[in-house]
Amino acid sequence: MLRSQLFSKTRREDPKDEQSKNAKLLIRAGFIHKELAGVYSYLPLGLRVLKKIEDIIREEINNIGGVELSMTAFQNPELWKKTGRWDDEVLDVWFKTELKAGGEIGLGTTHEEMVANIMRDHISSYKDLPMSVYQFQTKFRNELRAKSGIMRGREFLMKDLYSFHADEESLDDFYDKAKGAYERIYERCGLGDLTYITFSSGGTFSKYSHEYQTLSEAGEDKIFVNVEKKIAINEEVLNDETLNDLGIKREELEEVKAIEVGNIFKLGTKFSLALDLVYTDENGEKKPVVMGCYGIGLGRVMGTVAEVLSDEKGLVWPKEIAPFKISLICLAKAGTEAYKQAEEVYQKLTEMGVEVLFDERDISAGEKMAEADLFGFPYRAVISEKTFSAGQIELKGRQNTEAEMLSLADFYERMKN
Ligand code: ATP
Ligand code: MG
Repeated sequence: MLRSQLFSKTRREDPKDEQSKNAKLLIRAGFIHKELAGVYSYLPLGLRVLKKIEDIIREEINNIGGVELSMTAFQNPELWKKTGRWDDEVLDVWFKTELKAGGEIGLGTTHEEMVANIMRDHISSYKDLPMSVYQFQTKFRNELRAKSGIMRGREFLMKDLYSFHADEESLDDFYDKAKGAYERIYERCGLGDLTYITFSSGGTFSKYSHEYQTLSEAGEDKIFVNVEKKIAINEEVLNDETLNDLGIKREELEEVKAIEVGNIFKLGTKFSLALDLVYTDENGEKKPVVMGCYGIGLGRVMGTVAEVLSDEKGLVWPKEIAPFKISLICLAKAGTEAYKQAEEVYQKLTEMGVEVLFDERDISAGEKMAEADLFGFPYRAVISEKTFSAGQIELKGRQNTEAEMLSLADFYERMKN
């Protein structure tokens, strides 16, 4: 893409009404636009990141057998009354509307009720199980503390996966597969090293659930970790029983702050009993379906990457989720031979399928360089009168201090990989 086509403008100053690093940086870099506290629009660069995170998640969840669907945000109060969650104060604050014709409707905070009800039409026998479905869908929660930028939106995109099983053994089996998929997702999003599977409270059905927590001072959660053993426990279940279960002593754990980038939960029969989701087993006996649920907030992941990987110059995107692979900067004047070369390089990279943002504008070198750092794509290439007459191109990795001078052939070879 040509930089001049991208309408977004970058800013030098942090927005005054934001406290979180992710919101400050993403707004400065023109990735998002703030509408209200906790309410953001995604601009082209931000949307590209979000879509890439979505692609990674889709690939990994498809790999474990998940099937994609899309449920409506509108919630039927009757379903939620059956589980007692329509008026639940514990549940994140609802956005609800009273209808002129009578009755109420709610905007979905999560979809267990709806998905269990849908599955009533599609699961009747043990032969229909196991089954797992997921969606990327907008959730609405009137978060009371919407101060963490896109990490805590009042409207946010979630990948929610739900699994359905005949028995606990089948659920355990899928739950383990989901753990594998989650590990690969955070690894590919560049958060692998800092993200810990964390024991947390399990509700009524199972002793523990698992959260994926990324270590960060910006986190709202307090967890206790042992880095060598890769064990982490949420504050809410830090007790003698948990320590005993995990074979670890309190003094081996360090207290840190962390961001919950996802969670997986064994729901058991809680929702199927309340909503009458049953199947007939091999002996003709009716039994409640056993369920699991698995969530990831995409904006939460994107905001976390901005929090933990950025540096004093700006954003730093891991290769797989960067909006573009490379910033191509031309410092030569339009019409010169060097400028023509830059256009050819842009053409060729595009043909090679390398995602490139070509800064062809007539502005100062300093502005272009600073903006490329703020955007934080993995590479920056510079073509100037100097590089052109030397028959070379300058290449720098976003996190490297030194640039390299390469021949064009070597440059293309590098970009191929
Ligand atoms: P938190 O304790 O941070 O509020 P939660 O327990 O309410 O999270 P869930 O309802 O389990 O979260 O949602 C699943 C996932 O969705 C979370 O692990 C997180 O990644 C993401 N998420 C939750 N709330 C938000 C939000 N307000 N904005 C962005 N992502 C969110
Ligand atoms: Mg919440």
